[in-house]
Amino acid sequence: MMGAHQVIAGGAVTIRGLSKSFALNGAALPVLRDLDLSIHPGESLAIVGPSGCGKTTLLRVLAGLEQPDGGQVLIDGRPVHGVGTERAIIFQEPRLLPWLTVLGNVTFGLEVRGVPKAEAEAQARQNIRLVGLAEFEGAFPAQLSGGMAQRVGIARALAVQPEILLLDEPLGALDAMTRITMQDELARIWREQQVTMILVTHDLEEAIFLADRVLVMPREKGTPPRMIEIVLSRPRDRSEAGFVAMRR
Ligand code: ADP
Repeated sequence: MMGAHQVIAGGAVTIRGLSKSFALNGAALPVLRDLDLSIHPGESLAIVGPSGCGKTTLLRVLAGLEQPDGGQVLIDGRPVHGVGTERAIIFQEPRLLPWLTVLGNVTFGLEVRGVPKAEAEAQARQNIRLVGLAEFEGAFPAQLSGGMAQRVGIARALAVQPEILLLDEPLGALDAMTRITMQDELARIWREQQVTMILVTHDLEEAIFLADRVLVMPREKGTPPRMIEIVLSRPRDRSEAGFVAMRR
């Protein structure tokens, strides 16, 4: 949080000179060019910009799902390569395993990481409760609404106890009303879990509601992104007076 920044041990992200191109018809299409960015531990940063400007690419590089061509990503000062449990990513579609229950889906990733079953289930139950689905732990994905399925996706990501939560249009597939409820949920989870949150969205209102700062990526490749700082009352609550965006 800006101003009254909460003191959180980990989750600082430093991006230095990050570059990423894709091959297109035999030529290199530059998507990220020499990007520098610092994100504080516990900060919520939204990334907005026109389609194709590289938002998802940046998030995927941060998640370790995409290898940069140049530059560095540091977490708490340490360079990271590939995926790691200090980061978890939430996609637009949660892609739950249909043959597993809610509990099974959240437990799965922990068991894959070698957490013993009983311990994994206890952790999973805690996260399922956090997203308000305690009564649905035995339900199968086909029995869930879109919003509930995405809640499971959030519980699954939080179960690995990441310091950094990367969200790629997490509410993009939901209807308008569910979206607003889920924005409130994300704000609450972010406050309670004290994670660094990096959110890609095409919804400016969502960005202003959920973020401390908004990174606006330009359409023109090679133009540096702009940073907008959001100044608003805390705790973040829709019922409080409106918020103000300040351009830096
Ligand atoms: P955004 O999330 O802002 O819509 P993306 O990061 O998805 O943008 O894509 C940025 C650009 O990189 C686009 O022109 C897209 O076509 C291209 N791109 C993304 N991923 C790949 C890939 N795996 N191979 C080739 N080109 C890609």
